[in-house]
Amino acid sequence: MEGSMETSEESGPYGAQWRDWKWQLRNRITTVNQLEKIIHLSEKEKQEISLCLQKFRMAITPYYASLMDPEDPKCPIRMQAVPTINEMHILPYELEYPLDEDRDSPVNNIVHRYPDRVLFLVTRMCSMYCRHCTRRQADCHTAICLLPFEYSHSLHKWMFHIPTDMLYVP
Ligand code: SF4
Repeated sequence: MEGSMETSEESGPYGAQWRDWKWQLRNRITTVNQLEKIIHLSEKEKQEISLCLQKFRMAITPYYASLMDPEDPKCPIRMQAVPTINEMHILPYELEYPLDEDRDSPVNNIVHRYPDRVLFLVTRMCSMYCRHCTRRQADCHTAICLLPFEYSHSLHKWMFHIPTDMLYVP
């Protein structure tokens, strides 16, 4: 269950569960209460992170959290995963979704921006949400994984959408 860290010798860095990616996903740190058990946070930081979490998601796997310096707010590993109030300062010229992939998405779940490559969006979930992510405002930080029939549906529609001379099967 996400959000409630399972703790035992098995789940510590040398335990069997530690190397299990499903265990890592289930035990992601997603709240301020969980985070403050791992790293030192001032009251101000806690308030600012809570504010930020009203707009953006946070998820940090136990493995990644174990690499963070608990005492140094400038630890680069920590800065990649822990929100700061700076994320809430959105300037007028900033784009909501800088990648603007909708423009190049002829069918759902496929982005076709460059002639010789296609991006197939099979999931909208990342194990950790990077603070610099350019996709997070585009409904991309939701826990969605495509089901097999959804892949084939999108692929089928896309193959009918593009000119046949662009189809290449190696
Ligand atoms: S899409 Fe990439 S940059 Fe964004 S949170 Fe996921 S891994 Fe990080």
